[in-house]
Amino acid sequence: MKRPLITLLLLCVCLICDGQDLQYAKTIIKDLCSAEYKGRGYVGNGVNKAADYLEERFHQLRLRKFGNTYSQTYSFPVNTHPYNIKCEADKTTLAAGYDFLVDAGSPDITGHFDLLHFDPNDSLDNMLLYKKIAKGFGVDDALVLHHLSHKDKSVLDSCKAYQHMPALFITTEEKKLTHTISRTLNEYPSLTFIDSAIATKDSIEIDVKHEWMDSFTCKNLMGYIKGRLTDTMIVFTAHYDHLGMQGTSALFPGASDNASGVSMVLYLADYYSRHRPDYSIAFLLFSGEEAGLMGSKYFTEHPAFDVKKIRFLINIDIMGNAEKGIVAVNGEENRTQFDLLKALNDTLKLLPDVRIRGKAKNSDHYYFAAAGVPSIFIYSDGGVGFYHDVFDVANSINLTNYEQVAQLLISFVKKL
Ligand SMILES: [Zn+2]
Repeated sequence: MKRPLITLLLLCVCLICDGQDLQYAKTIIKDLCSAEYKGRGYVGNGVNKAADYLEERFHQLRLRKFGNTYSQTYSFPVNTHPYNIKCEADKTTLAAGYDFLVDAGSPDITGHFDLLHFDPNDSLDNMLLYKKIAKGFGVDDALVLHHLSHKDKSVLDSCKAYQHMPALFITTEEKKLTHTISRTLNEYPSLTFIDSAIATKDSIEIDVKHEWMDSFTCKNLMGYIKGRLTDTMIVFTAHYDHLGMQGTSALFPGASDNASGVSMVLYLADYYSRHRPDYSIAFLLFSGEEAGLMGSKYFTEHPAFDVKKIRFLINIDIMGNAEKGIVAVNGEENRTQFDLLKALNDTLKLLPDVRIRGKAKNSDHYYFAAAGVPSIFIYSDGGVGFYHDVFDVANSINLTNYEQVAQLLISFVKKL
């Protein structure tokens, strides 16, 4: 009679634990997205404040250290716009993050400018635009290019060729402003607007100040749980940095990208701290990802342990809503492991789908894969799709199938 009772008790304990697990993940996401960590970027040292918070979580989980520290530091240059940004179009105040974004690499721009509107996709407008470029701009001219991606540099190149640069470049997007990080300082000031915020306007009053940092120091965080049988390692990674702030009010919380992935790594660390694994399991949290995979690149060049001991690495970047399942980047390159992951999902019936993708330099798995470490990058498929914008807030992700993903990864690690 004792056995069923013990089984029942264990089941209850497990259920309670699982409930706490999801709450644990939610708390991590909410905390990382709070104003205190300033979008985990460079303005106000947000990313390093987040590092202190995460180191404290490592302590709480009693993760082991590689050597005597949970962290390694490194530096890179970065451009920021930390001061109050003023922007008025025909006396209507416009908001950074919502109506426009100063391009990440932009230098200062202050003054009153006349808006010269062109749509390079319209053939007549395009002809007039190039005539104007050949003729040259006035000192107060701001060139507004409608529906042009800021990645399209052909107009800029043409201005450079004539040495006729407008005082200010403005490009417009239809509805969504996507921010980024720049490790270089552009020669010319530029902004990107939501089209409707500026399409009918004649002039703009603007004040933007940049702050260039030659050498911003940030941290990678590393901890592990020792395996029962072997020191061969399974590694879980996620980046904890995001885009930070622009001006004093535009905050990029990065809930989906990648507070959600960090929470999953800590969720797994919490699980393994209570269920000792056969393999040793390392948990690596990188900074500098949004600046161009800087943290993981540095780690692979200065590893805290022998990366040859890594049996498999799973990078998690965006895990907010797995309504449709997960996607495994670099799955094509690790077909055996991908097939195992997919077969387990089919057997356990956890997620609607586990999709495969090929090689891509789109997250922190990349430099590990390049160094010969078998690695995949998984992200969740589903949700509203806020990405690199001010709307990627903690409330916009609902962690659909979150525990199913964790369960799948735990089963996968057991079979590796
Ligand atoms: Zn990311």
